[in-house]
Amino acid sequence: MHYRMYGKTGFQVSALGLGCMRLPRIINEEQGEAPVDREKAYELIRYAADNGVNYFDTAFGYHGTTSEAILGEALAEEARREKVKIVTKQPFAEMKTQGDIRRNLESTLKKLRTDYIDVYLIHNIQRSTWENIKKRKIIEEYEQFRSEGLIRGIGFSYHGQYPAFKAVLDFYDWTMCQIQQNFMDVENEATEEAIRQAGKKGCALVIMEPLRGGSLTTPPPAIQALYGEYPVQHSPVEWSFRHLLNYPEVSTILSGMTTLDQLKENIAIFSKADAVPGCLSPDDQSLLARIRSAYNTYQNIPCTKCEYCMPCPNGVEIPNIFSLYNEGSMFGNFNQPRRGYMFTTRFGHSADKCVKCGLCEQKCPQHIEIIKQLSTAHESLKGWLE
Ligand code: SF4
Ligand code: SF4
Repeated sequence: MHYRMYGKTGFQVSALGLGCMRLPRIINEEQGEAPVDREKAYELIRYAADNGVNYFDTAFGYHGTTSEAILGEALAEEARREKVKIVTKQPFAEMKTQGDIRRNLESTLKKLRTDYIDVYLIHNIQRSTWENIKKRKIIEEYEQFRSEGLIRGIGFSYHGQYPAFKAVLDFYDWTMCQIQQNFMDVENEATEEAIRQAGKKGCALVIMEPLRGGSLTTPPPAIQALYGEYPVQHSPVEWSFRHLLNYPEVSTILSGMTTLDQLKENIAIFSKADAVPGCLSPDDQSLLARIRSAYNTYQNIPCTKCEYCMPCPNGVEIPNIFSLYNEGSMFGNFNQPRRGYMFTTRFGHSADKCVKCGLCEQKCPQHIEIIKQLSTAHESLKGWLE
């Protein structure tokens, strides 16, 4: 396992981190439930901790608020807690009153069976919530926790476009930031530029969704052929990781592994001698650019995210919804986009809020039938099983 510097903290973390958002589950579709399979989850977490992974990421809300407790239970024995870094997050939606912020942290510490959190994140900052986060002085509250020794670092996770990311990054001397990146997202989400800017600031950079929720693991035949023709052979999973390992600014890459086999495969990839910054040759980068273009041909809605249609008077996040729908169409898998859509719904910005006023369609330079396409997207994206 390779270890990398974690921003300005002086400690090193394993290049592979375990994300506790996709722990093994027992799916019960009839009852609409999918609780974590605790025994398998303990085994996974302990194997990771005993085999070089020293970075564990969870959140207050993951797995219906059970993920933190499962991680805490798994690490409680054999002094594993002391050997690892635990990072967790409190979502803005759970901070209804100022007292809630402290209560939620206390509950998190209890569930994690620890006296301190290594880095405490504001979860999923969005353009629409950032002004309120500042107004509510949540960073100041976190600073108080840090002065009491309850947390050791302050960070944020972010889903959204680059300009709002940059505004958040520049606002504060964050210990770390966590963004979605993979070879499909170099010009999407916070973009590759976010990696450079975080590095320039000395902010530890943690990558989530390196495999786009698993979508990059099983390419369609045309894309598999591109990989197959290339003289250097790696699995699609390894190519995806290598793309991120190539950046010196990246501290750790979170992968939401569900099985022991996936974990073992990933540990092997991250332990290869050349799994270090600079591991991609110019030809390798051209291959990934060709694969990116090939995937993009599968997009259904020609939305360019220009945002001329915004704002919708009813709060519908049109480009974001189309982006999620295109992602599902592109990879033939709506699991991950459904999760993203669950957040859009939670904040009241989902497609079913459309009242068909038609204002957006008049402004779209691509002449997209927005109302009709929103309805199609909603049918495909609704129904995330927490
Ligand atoms: S048609 Fe729907 S999505 Fe478009 S502006 Fe009106 S309410 Fe918003
Ligand atoms: S105006 Fe059209 S192309 Fe631009 S973001 Fe809106 S739907 Fe997409």
